[in-house]
Amino acid sequence: MKIHEYQAKQLLARYGVAVPEGRVAVTVEEAVAAYEALKSPLCVVKAQIHAGGRGKGGGVKLVKSADECRAAAKSILGMQLKTHQTGPEGQLVRTLWVEKGSAIAKEYYLGIALDRELKKPVMMMSSEGGMDIEEVAAKHPDKIVKCAFSPSKGLQVFEAQKLVRGVRLSPGLEPQTVPLLQALAKMYVELDCAIAEINPLIVTTDNKVIALDGKINFDSNALFRHEELVPLRDLHEEDAKEIEASKFDLSYIALDGNIGCMVNGAGLAMATMDVIELYGASPANFLDVGGGATAEKVTAAFRILLSDKKVKGVLINIFGGIMKCDTIAEGVIAAVKQVNLNVPLVVRLEGTNVELGKKMLAESKLPIVSANDLDDAAQKICNAVAGKK
Ligand code: GDP
Ligand code: MN
Repeated sequence: MKIHEYQAKQLLARYGVAVPEGRVAVTVEEAVAAYEALKSPLCVVKAQIHAGGRGKGGGVKLVKSADECRAAAKSILGMQLKTHQTGPEGQLVRTLWVEKGSAIAKEYYLGIALDRELKKPVMMMSSEGGMDIEEVAAKHPDKIVKCAFSPSKGLQVFEAQKLVRGVRLSPGLEPQTVPLLQALAKMYVELDCAIAEINPLIVTTDNKVIALDGKINFDSNALFRHEELVPLRDLHEEDAKEIEASKFDLSYIALDGNIGCMVNGAGLAMATMDVIELYGASPANFLDVGGGATAEKVTAAFRILLSDKKVKGVLINIFGGIMKCDTIAEGVIAAVKQVNLNVPLVVRLEGTNVELGKKMLAESKLPIVSANDLDDAAQKICNAVAGKK
């Protein structure tokens, strides 16, 4: 689960990370009132969307008067903000964060992610702050200092010192920076974060170390033990199809291709996506309907797939284990009758009662193409979408 910068900054502050003072605004008037309440000649008006790169896209503006603040708020609120993380359609800005402006002397990158090989969180720090860390990692990997730490012991003082000295932070700033790094590490572990990133972490001209940006992603599988975090979720920022899928307990992730996939079992779903790629097309989604796929679930999944305008064909690949193939066929037939199917549909069934299931599909007289195995299914749907027979 992702949250907004202003929410991340509130959590960071709670753990003792210094952040600029600010206010949330959802209207231009509120933004102007925030500017006035902050009583700082320089303020920053920042678009709140779940994507980075807002600065380059015009979503972060420095303002020096109430009028400038009004103009900035007007231009940012309601805009479709496009960044390298939003996709070409951009993301609608509904909320602003107005904060006291900072005089930057130096920008650093500071972040924590989970290293699955080391099975530990890894803190990373770089003197190349403000830039995309992916770009720094590609071009100047030597400029990133890393330190894996024990989630039970937390980040030790000597480990934090290794990081700040590695990026050549001025020694005089260590007394405030070492505890800041430790606080970020503590938050990461306690709140079950997947990513916690401060980019940039800045040193101000009067030698204060503060978090100018904040990005936190939580491990959704751990949310059950963080009730207080659940209300921070902003459904507007999430894919409508993914929200709908979660209501039906379907694991659905939207992707960029044009072949909608409905599969039972995550492993089979991954294999199906691979085979689609093998035959030259790309999946529009990952969708696991689970072991007990009822007719109702299959119908819901179908509706979600077809609501995606990118989908030019659908591949259903179901293994009838606990669920028998004739039950699945029944669900598919019911779903096709209910939704307005206007793209090719290929169904591959395997498992218990497969012959009966295939017979039912054939006798339904619906435009369903039956496939014998995974290769056959992928080829049939790829060809159909490519306009070939
Ligand atoms: P992002 O582009 O989505 O990562 O948004 P950031 O919050 O990182 O802001 C982008 C950039 O705007 C920062 O890297 C800074 O260079 C600049 N910026 C943000 N806040 C301030 C501020 O208070 N003062 C100054 N001078 N620049 C700022
Ligand atoms: Mn940033």
